[in-house]
Amino acid sequence: MLHARSRDPTGDAVMTIVSNELLEVLACPACKGTLVAHERKGGLVCLSCRLLFPVREGVPIMLIDEASRLDDEGECI
Ligand SMILES: [Zn+2]
Repeated sequence: MLHARSRDPTGDAVMTIVSNELLEVLACPACKGTLVAHERKGGLVCLSCRLLFPVREGVPIMLIDEASRLDDEGECI
């Protein structure tokens, strides 16, 4: 399967940890906030409460017990 669209020069190098389709249907289980993929941390981060949910083998673990909170200092998403 060929990738016809490669307009984004950085797009090909970045490994997407979850699909955008999956991101669209997922919400933070703690606050229903918007989640974004955090490539460096290898997980999904809630923009509202800054919980980081791990992704294992492409499956996001949407459990508050499994999540860790990002520190406010030095972390930019
Ligand atoms: Zn949240």
